Order: sequence, then C-alpha cells, then structure tokens
Amino acid sequence: MRRVVACLLALAAGPVSVAAQPNPESIRVAVVRDGPEVLVEVHGRWTMSDAQSGQPLQEGRRLRQTAVRAGDGGLRFGDEVLPVAGVRLEPGREASIDVNGSRLRGRLEIVRQDDGRLLVINHVALEDYLRGVLSKEAPDYWPEEALKAIAVAARTYAVYQRFTKEQQAYDVSGDVMSQDYGGHAAEKDATDRAVAATAGWIVLEGSRLFPTFYHSTCGGRTEHGLAMGTFEVRPLRGNIECTFCQASPFFSWQRRLTRADVNWALRQSRFGPVGPVRGMRVVKRTPSGRAEQIAIIGDRTLTLSGYEFRSVFGFETIRSPLLTIVPLADAFVVQGHGWGHGVGLCQWGAAELARRGWTAAQILAYYYPGATLADIARLTTEPIDVARGGP
Ligand SMILES: [Zn+2]
Repeated sequence: MRRVVACLLALAAGPVSVAAQPNPESIRVAVVRDGPEVLVEVHGRWTMSDAQSGQPLQEGRRLRQTAVRAGDGGLRFGDEVLPVAGVRLEPGREASIDVNGSRLRGRLEIVRQDDGRLLVINHVALEDYLRGVLSKEAPDYWPEEALKAIAVAARTYAVYQRFTKEQQAYDVSGDVMSQDYGGHAAEKDATDRAVAATAGWIVLEGSRLFPTFYHSTCGGRTEHGLAMGTFEVRPLRGNIECTFCQASPFFSWQRRLTRADVNWALRQSRFGPVGPVRGMRVVKRTPSGRAEQIAIIGDRTLTLSGYEFRSVFGFETIRSPLLTIVPLADAFVVQGHGWGHGVGLCQWGAAELARRGWTAAQILAYYYPGATLADIARLTTEPIDVARGGP
C-alpha cells in the first residue's frame, strides 16, 4: 500500500513512468557515426540478421576482416550486396568482434544512413561498457577510491544518457563528446576492479536521475550545471572550492595568441573574420569566475561564449573557460586554469582526495552535494524523475 501511495505521489509530481523506462543494464554506443566504410572481423562463431525484421541472413564459424560499405540498394559486405538497410551481427558465446581493428564486447548493428554513410552501434552490457570507458577516462595507477568514484560518475552519466536518448538511434557515442570508450581493447586490471567493486552503484538526487558531469581538472572551483544546459539540480550547482587538483599538469596553463592567430582562427570558424583584431577581453563571468562572454573587437565586435571561444582555437589550446586575457602589443596571453568545462566531479581533485584517505562515497558527496548512492535496480522498481537539460 505504501508503495502505491508513493507511486501516485510521484506521478502527480511529474511525468514519470516505470513501464516506459529503458533497461538500464545495457547501452547503445555509436562507435562509428559517419564512416564511408568499416572493417569488421569476428573471432569465432557469428550470426547476422536483418536489423529491421530480425530475419536471419547468414552465419559462420569465423568472419575474416571484411570491408562493409553502403551499396546501391543495401549494404555491401566485401563483394556481396545484402538487400537490407541494416544488419545485426551477433558473436557466439566465446567469440568477439573487431571494428576497425578494435576489439569490442557485445553485439553490433551496422546501419546505412540516408546520406549513404554508415552508423555502427555497439550494443553492450553497461558494466562491460564502463570497463572500456574508465580505462580511457582515468589513469589506472590512480588510487582505488578515486577510480571507484569516477566509475560511479561514469555509470550514472551513461544511465542518464540511456534514459534521455531513448527516441534516438543510440545513447552515447564512443568519443570525448560524451565519454571516451575504448572497448575491450582498452580494459585494464585496476580500472576493471573499480568498475566491479562499484557494480550497479549510481548516484541520485532523492529519486531524480541527473547527468553526473565530470572533467579532468577544475582549476580551483567547480562550475554550475547551467554551463552544460539548464540543469537546475542541487548536486550541479557548482562553485565548490577545489584546491586538490593542483598536482594536475593542467592546473594552470598559458597560451600566446598573436593578432594574426586570432584572425586566422576566426576565418576558419563559423563566426568568420572581424577584420584587424584590436582587442579581446572577457566581458562577463559566471559566478565561479569562468569566462561566459568574450568580446573580440575588430571592424565589428564578435561576442562568443566560453565554449565557442574554446571551439575557435581548439579545446586543447584553450583548455578551459577559467581564463584571463592579457593584451600585449602584437598578441594576447591567455592565462588559464584547469582542463574541461568544470562541472561536477574534478578527476584530479578526486585523485588527491583519495590519496588523503577519502572514500569514493565521500568524494562523490563532495563534488555532487545532496546526491546519495543508490542501487541501479531502483531505476526498474521505482518511478524515477529525470532532470532535463537543454536551452
Ligand atoms: Zn579541482
């Protein structure tokens, strides 16, 4: 009875439906998003079926490396054209699949897109996906409690994507725009242990799932979730002091941009040139001190967000929006702190806190205040609210 009342209350509070929620224990990873060709190999037994109808197409004991392309009227597998828009490739129990030379766990879906390019989606168990993510996201020599905290953040982030991308063809892409994913090939013992030790742990704010953003180095203070969309949840309010990431090689950095560099970069960008660059300055900052608006002054004044400014010069050149601009006669010196957007958990900070004896739970509570550890099973047994972002 109590459960029924709780459900009704939750339903009254917002659009929540248990039945419509996707299975949180698997994830769809786009490993190739617009390739003209993909190389596929299966070590061991496999079966292939039509992705739409499920109709069996082929099977074999082993699939030698084969080039797959979109062909007229279907998918071209080596020399053979299959009259389908997409296939599912399922490895046998002991078998595994290589895509462009990288070993993956789980099964594969190869879909021909309208523009004739290929979308390749790896359907993989969530815990296996995380093994391929954590080893790329954190050095395996970091203290165990830091790796465990990052594993929980990465798991929660992945589940959040799963719950908000259900209408799309995939949940996450295997690149740094979501979480870096190296598949089976990238797995390491220490990061595997951190995933196993936290299996099924996520963090929630009450009964609300939110995107547990994390980043390399905050550079002194974390940022509000508003920087990543409108995420008005308590754990993402940011402005958390973090001096723990000072050991990071990216804690402070400096770049010199000549006026010609600025001009050239703008010409290559979607913003276009502004004529001779006369000035460049931060005109608005977020409460955590990050550049929210940067004006570049020439024949016209171009105002960019911190993210747009980074995109113009490259995310590895301007590593974070926590920066000041010092004008010189013929150049600008950009003095910055940190690497990444600064929202949520600071990975280098987590590593230092773990060295000082903090547990994974304490580290998570520090960077996501108000969030609590929860078992992923709650997502299938209780109504869960999902924090929505977007402009
Ligand atoms: Zn930090």
